[in-house]
Amino acid sequence: MDRFYSQDQKALRETARRFAEAEILPRAAAIDREDRFDHTLYKGMADLGLFGICLREGAGGAGLDAVAACIAMEELARCSGAVANAFAIPVEATLFFDHHGTAAHKELIPKILSGDIIPATAVSEPDHGSDVAGIRTTAVREGNGWRLNGTKAWVTLGGVADRIMVFARTGAEAGHRSISCLLVDGALPGIARGKNEELLGMHGLDDCQITFSDVLLPADSVMGPEKQAFKMAMSNFNFSRLMMASMALGMAQAAFEDATAYAKDRKQFGQAIIGFQAVQFMLADMSTDIAAARLLIHHAARLHDAGEPIAKEAAQAKLFTTDMAMKHVSNALQIHGGNGYSREYRIERIFRDVRLAQIYEGTNQIQRLIIARQVEKEAA
Ligand SMILES: Cc1cc2nc3c(=O)[nH]c(=O)nc-3n(C[C@H](O)[C@H](O)[C@H](O)COP(=O)(O)OP(=O)(O)OC[C@H]3O[C@@H](n4cnc5c(N)ncnc54)[C@H](O)[C@@H]3O)c2cc1C
Repeated sequence: MDRFYSQDQKALRETARRFAEAEILPRAAAIDREDRFDHTLYKGMADLGLFGICLREGAGGAGLDAVAACIAMEELARCSGAVANAFAIPVEATLFFDHHGTAAHKELIPKILSGDIIPATAVSEPDHGSDVAGIRTTAVREGNGWRLNGTKAWVTLGGVADRIMVFARTGAEAGHRSISCLLVDGALPGIARGKNEELLGMHGLDDCQITFSDVLLPADSVMGPEKQAFKMAMSNFNFSRLMMASMALGMAQAAFEDATAYAKDRKQFGQAIIGFQAVQFMLADMSTDIAAARLLIHHAARLHDAGEPIAKEAAQAKLFTTDMAMKHVSNALQIHGGNGYSREYRIERIFRDVRLAQIYEGTNQIQRLIIARQVEKEAA
């Protein structure tokens, strides 16, 4: 299958794999145990040029495609889902800045690429997750700027972010029709960051609530056309869902490799357990579904690179990959027997980390809604 990838894509896989195995893997267990954001690794990914993988060259990126970004994501997640998750944030933010930012916003891109400015995205609120159109945070015009009020929930990298893309209402229109995106300097007065959330997995991402109380923003804070941020976010989700699918794929691949090695090594009833058909079939199903997921993701990424709409394909890739990853990571843990339930083996961490992928960037129930809507449209 490798021969169908370009030289650039293959070289990137090599680079990302080398970095992930040499730098991320040795630290992954400690990041999980200590639940701390690893600035050094973040900077290491930046220094490698990974944050600008698919940003156009004119904006300071490498100008590669979405397939390349998916490949890099898979390789990083193969060594740590959490570090890979951190990688996705600046990759997606710089694309958003480039598409929707003002000239002043775009000036920040080099610093995001170099890891000196950490971005975060704040859409969800304590009472509005799947229902993005219901958010209540407001930004009201005041003098020559904006007054921002509201609380955002679950902000990945929220505790360390220097700039936060905040989705807020800038008008009275109901639903999504008054939602804008405002870029907020994290050092402004009136911003309170909550505690690092205690999560099942994906530790080390400083995920927190952020409350904005009468935060005064400059006039040019709005990214993209005012009141169009819902549409901007939805179209962004197409790419970010491919990234999340690739993250789950990388974790499933790691689980498969660990389970295979363990099954070859572990002996019961006088033979390696890989000789038992029950174990062989779990590995066979894993290998098959991982290959299918990779094809689904890269197919959607290629369509995206060709400028085609991919709402259905991105949702299918995210839904299929994250569900299959959950199922097979659980089976990989099963192959480890009691050891799989112990922190001594990394399958335990992968099992906790991979669960998130079914929940965020749109839950898998929401992915089914999106797919169903597209199916209905196609049948009309
Ligand atoms: C670790 C973590 C990191 C996150 N990072 C970020 C971030 O950086 N920025 C950000 O903005 N958000 C972030 N989120 C929030 C995430 O996007 C939401 O948790 C997610 O969208 C689901 O929203 P919710 O938690 O409010 O669940 P709800 O929307 O309350 O959903 C609860 C359940 O109801 C189901 N449901 C809801 N509506 C429907 C429907 N119409 N049809 C069928 N089923 C439905 C859901 O599928 C789910 O099973 C993060 C979340 C977590 C846990």
